[in-house]
Amino acid sequence: MIRELVSLDRRFTCPVDYVEPDRYRALYAIGDHERIIAQGAGTSYTAASFGRGVKVVSMRHFDRILDFDAAAGLVEVEASCPLGRIDHFLARHGYTLPVQPGHPQITVGGCIACNAHGKNPYRDGLFCDAVQQIRLFHPRCGLVTLHREAHRSVFELTCGGFGLTGVIVSARLQARPQPRAVANMRTISVGDLHETFEALDEQAAETDVLYTWNDLSRPSRGGRGFVVCGQFEPCDDAVEADESWRPLESGGRRGPRVWRRGTVPVLNELYRRVACRHARPVRTRRFDAIYPITRKAFYYRLYGRYGFVEQQVIMPNDVRHDYADALSRLVRETDPCVVLASCKAFRGPRSLLHFRGVCLSVDVVPDAAGRRFLDRLDDLNDERGAISNLCKDSRLSAEHVRKQYGPEYERFRRRLHRFDPGRQFVSALSERIDL
Ligand SMILES: Cc1cc2nc3c(=O)[nH]c(=O)nc-3n(C[C@H](O)[C@H](O)[C@H](O)COP(=O)(O)OP(=O)(O)OC[C@H]3O[C@@H](n4cnc5c(N)ncnc54)[C@H](O)[C@@H]3O)c2cc1C
Repeated sequence: MIRELVSLDRRFTCPVDYVEPDRYRALYAIGDHERIIAQGAGTSYTAASFGRGVKVVSMRHFDRILDFDAAAGLVEVEASCPLGRIDHFLARHGYTLPVQPGHPQITVGGCIACNAHGKNPYRDGLFCDAVQQIRLFHPRCGLVTLHREAHRSVFELTCGGFGLTGVIVSARLQARPQPRAVANMRTISVGDLHETFEALDEQAAETDVLYTWNDLSRPSRGGRGFVVCGQFEPCDDAVEADESWRPLESGGRRGPRVWRRGTVPVLNELYRRVACRHARPVRTRRFDAIYPITRKAFYYRLYGRYGFVEQQVIMPNDVRHDYADALSRLVRETDPCVVLASCKAFRGPRSLLHFRGVCLSVDVVPDAAGRRFLDRLDDLNDERGAISNLCKDSRLSAEHVRKQYGPEYERFRRRLHRFDPGRQFVSALSERIDL
């Protein structure tokens, strides 16, 4: 079947040959003569799960929970099991997944392939830290079971490997004990990005949910905003499935273009004032604390037909204050329409294309000023040793990825080509960054 696919940021679209195997036999019948890529929920900002002339293998029928060892907290799931379903299942048994990105529709396969981060990456690490075993299908090798230690090389290549080593069929994950809980959420006001970094430092070791909202819509605002802090507290409430959320339509439906130069500063200021009223903790459902974007997904639609660009970078801690000053200068000089800026605290070693080190995200309207700003932001990242999250920005070039990731990029590329000399698994993302 031919389908027109659109990335969530609306920056890439193309018709693709789309198949949806509904049993293992059909999946394993895929031959080694065509270019393919697996798709989970298809919610990635950039076209990581499709591309021109590439057959898309939707894994949506492989979404079951296969096994659960309650004593060890080990859960085995098919690759397209959505996080929301696993979370509900585990919560009933007093467990949770330590790392979950912000929407319940996102699948385990997508989280492994992008090595997603959760609510406090400084403390909890990345999604793949909890992956014990992966079953991977490649038409040339058949079905293989990868153990974290025994098959370190391919395992590492698959974790954060953007689906380029094959189709993840299922995975075994280590869950963490967590009693039934509600989240107590509060906000701390910050005057600029420097204060934001300090507040993150103070909260990072202890806080369950930790991210920031910063206003860069006008140079004079300098990133003022608030830090969202949440702490899970045990409660006796029954664990109820939340079925009320609506799935994201990847780039599909679009709304009127609300995010404009004239509206963003006004709406941002209103949002900041309302949010900063929660200086005292507010009791919040665990679901809403873990998946904060679920009820705000209309945000994406309000960019209108041309969508948006998200740059998400991790910068070394020792350059972050310089970086914040340079970023403010860049905003003043190029005058982009920055709708959203947000930070999270990270730590950990860099390896291959995995995304680790303060993380700053900016969502920008891609008009002429926005594009100028983003081009210069790429140069700033190259100069200051920051690395961009490859599954977010649809315009990032291979040249910048090479500069930013340096030897780790070459190491990933070399190992990928050694594992799969025919390079059967490709996407618009992998072609753009020359993998
Ligand atoms: C609302 C929202 C909130 C988000 N919040 C966060 C966040 O807090 N932290 C974060 O890190 N990310 C976040 N993300 C990004 C998201 O985690 C990743 O884009 C994730 O990959 C999306 O999962 P998916 O199932 O939609 O994957 P898809 O978009 O379908 O695919 C993404 C990548 O995974 C690969 N893939 C998917 N399934 C398989 C499989 N079975 N086998 C092999 N490869 C596969 C694809 O080939 C592709 O390369 C967010 C995205 C959205 C839309």
